[in-house]
Amino acid sequence: MKTAIPKIVISAALVLSVLLPTSLLAQTDEITISAQQLAGNVYMLSGRGGNIGVLIGEDGTLQVDHPNAELYPKTAEKIKELGGGPARILVNTHYHLDHTGGNELISQSGAVTIAHENVRKRQMSGNSIAYFQIQHPPLSGQWLPDIAFEIGLTLHFNGEEIEVYHVGPAHTDGDAVVYFKNANVVHVGDIFFNEIYPFIDLENGGNFEGLIKAIDDILAKINENTHVIPGHGPVTDYAGFKAYRDMLATIMNRVQGMVDDGRSLEEIIAAKPTVEFDEGNQGFIPADDLVKFVYDDLTP
Ligand SMILES: [Zn+2]
Repeated sequence: MKTAIPKIVISAALVLSVLLPTSLLAQTDEITISAQQLAGNVYMLSGRGGNIGVLIGEDGTLQVDHPNAELYPKTAEKIKELGGGPARILVNTHYHLDHTGGNELISQSGAVTIAHENVRKRQMSGNSIAYFQIQHPPLSGQWLPDIAFEIGLTLHFNGEEIEVYHVGPAHTDGDAVVYFKNANVVHVGDIFFNEIYPFIDLENGGNFEGLIKAIDDILAKINENTHVIPGHGPVTDYAGFKAYRDMLATIMNRVQGMVDDGRSLEEIIAAKPTVEFDEGNQGFIPADDLVKFVYDDLTP
């Protein structure tokens, strides 16, 4: 079943803003956090930055991701409106700040933070993303996951069975999928940018082929009634996630074919291998940049 959701337009400013230093951000007063009940007590919160997953119940609140810290008062208020309190468990889908920006505050309010071990490694070492001209300083203390897993773990919380697992190199090298099995809701983080071309963090272990493989692995676990929470963009279902996978595979195969024919990056960009997908997906990442990501990933 596809959830009826008003289509939203994601601008470059909307997504980029979450990757920029706080000092450069517009006033957060203008941001509204909206909540959408997906199944049972599982919600998606969205406003700016990464989508938040929330499970509320007798055991307390479990949260998946939180965008930049300055949105914390608003998200906390929204969770309170839904009947929840400060999170007891926080799961990070990957290390990017538009998904981990609330870590310190949420840890301070008593949550245990769980993430893939490469999230912790990258946070501790600091790193950079040349595409966005971002330098992340090394983090410590309550910014870091308390529990860093390699393969995955299962949480039993509020009567839910929540499978948290790593999918191999995809958007980064530390992506985690969070699958609420009873509610049949999956938060896939930035493995999925819905209705928007994706950024793939090749400098930090991301991999385009791996991304498609990760989606295939997730699709094999879920079913046509699963609610799929993307890292960015509106919630969708199996069919919406599969269409995204097929779009990426089509683009990758076209670029690979031209690479095999010995064509240069400039020639491949000029051939417009994304053309029928550009309308509605460009904005955050221009089509030419997506082609360059794929090319860079496929060529030594
Ligand atoms: Zn990301």
